[in-house]
Amino acid sequence: MEIIKDIEIIYDIGIILFDALVVLLIIFWIYRVTRGTSAIPILLGLLAIFLAWLVAEFLGMYMMGMLLNQFVNVGFIAIIILFQNEIRQFLFSIGDRANIKGPSKILEKVMTLRHENRNPFNVEEVTTSLVNLASRKDGALIIIQRSSDLTIHFHGTTPLVADLYAPLIEASFAKSSAMHDGGMYIANGRIRAVKCVLPVSQKSDLPSELGMRHRAALGLAEKTDALVLIVSEETGLISIAMDGNLHRGLAPEDILEILERELIKD
Ligand code: ATP
Ligand code: MG
Repeated sequence: MEIIKDIEIIYDIGIILFDALVVLLIIFWIYRVTRGTSAIPILLGLLAIFLAWLVAEFLGMYMMGMLLNQFVNVGFIAIIILFQNEIRQFLFSIGDRANIKGPSKILEKVMTLRHENRNPFNVEEVTTSLVNLASRKDGALIIIQRSSDLTIHFHGTTPLVADLYAPLIEASFAKSSAMHDGGMYIANGRIRAVKCVLPVSQKSDLPSELGMRHRAALGLAEKTDALVLIVSEETGLISIAMDGNLHRGLAPEDILEILERELIKD
């Protein structure tokens, strides 16, 4: 009897420790994905409301408790709405890590069925245009759609449908061109629009030399799975924003490699 009791106690302590470890890991993960973003003050605000609610409950403050209870009740939904980007990135990374190739390939096939006869993406034309724009220090912003629908994020778009052709891309970003401002939108292997205005990133820890063009590229890459290529008119450097990160100073072979890897499906 005694031994069974001891085993039960050890089991209970084990569960408590495991529970605490899992909660700590979740808190650590929330801290990692929200570090440096505006989410920290929001989280602190939610924590303050939760603590005030605990105190009100403890002291038996009925009306205050009822009021704060409403906040706590909608808190879960509020967290989902406020952190939808972070949650999306987290679920993406789990799916990515799980690497379940079979079902995801079938799903991809089903979901892209309506794009059955889509154009192959012409990686060379885009890379050539970026390299030439960089050598002339003509600023550029090229948005390439993957699975997220991007049009809901654009403003002031001017439709222009054309094949990917380096001289055309370069001409549209020449400083004298009437369509050089904003981004060029590419989907299904073709240019779809120019002069797209993108949502800008609110990140506070970006290097100070990066202006609105880089912020806009990052802003879209934080919200969607688009690839956004940038040529800086100040430095002539080529960068790419993808999956919420900015990679700066790419060589022509890096661009080719990234575009082939990310866009040309095997
Ligand atoms: P660069 O290194 O080329 O100077 P930058 O990151 O310093 O880039 P700015 O100098 O502020 O950026 O570039 C301004 C240009 O960026 C604008 O002329 C416009 O074409 C583009 N741009 C600015 N904001 C947006 C936006 N929200 N969406 C799309 N394009 C934008
Ligand atoms: Mg600038």
